[in-house]
Amino acid sequence: MVTDRSGSEVERIGILGGTFDPVHYGHLRAAEEVRERFFLDKIIFMPAALPPHKRDRKVTDKEHRLEMVRKAVAGNPAFEVSDLECSREGASYSIETLKILKEGRGAGSEIYFILGSDAFSLIHTWRSYEDLFSMAHWIVVERPGPGKKGFGTLPESVRGSFRYNHGLKAWIHRSGHTLRFCKLNALNISASEIRKLVESGRSIRYLVPEEVRLYIETHGLYKGDSTRRE
Ligand code: ATP
Ligand code: MG
Repeated sequence: MVTDRSGSEVERIGILGGTFDPVHYGHLRAAEEVRERFFLDKIIFMPAALPPHKRDRKVTDKEHRLEMVRKAVAGNPAFEVSDLECSREGASYSIETLKILKEGRGAGSEIYFILGSDAFSLIHTWRSYEDLFSMAHWIVVERPGPGKKGFGTLPESVRGSFRYNHGLKAWIHRSGHTLRFCKLNALNISASEIRKLVESGRSIRYLVPEEVRLYIETHGLYKGDSTRRE
């Protein structure tokens, strides 16, 4: 908790959205480093129901993805899982999620929206992306591999709404919210790679928490089409 100018306590909450198909150590380590670096009180993992930008592939049932995230974060008191997006009907749009979160939490909390540089480079494809910057602070983490491309620079489409503050080492949106790029002890792990490994009968040990690996094995996930749907 930090105290604001009026002396009230402010809870700093990080939100890490994603498909989490499945959750892996790349997500967990990124969340932990961001939590520590930015003095966040907690990180909420927010699995998406039907991610609009991923409709070109089959996504595992949300119940399975949620359960794997629950298992993955169980040992960390600063990590939580929210089924806010999964329990809503239809597609998940971050703008709707942020509105609901902000209404529910009121002025006593500051929201930090966390995402990888690969996702950030596609920000112009998100619904109402301009409004998203007005609703929360942003932390863009470096994603190893080709996704690194979007790290450190603001996409053309949003540049006009920000100015750089050298003292804060942050971009300041015209709404007053900050956007920071955060370098990590990057782990080059992706869920797509994990799915491919399982499909071809190879080991995913040490890429995901053991409870998640066992869950995947028990439920036969990623072996065929039985657990996946459009
Ligand atoms: P997929 O390969 O299916 O896209 P993914 O590994 O990218 O899966 P997502 O659920 O798409 O996982 O990612 C959720 C969020 O976490 C995104 O903002 C993404 O950029 C970020 N992220 C995923 N993996 C890493 C990683 N290894 N390091 C840092 N950030 C990551
Ligand atoms: Mg991804």
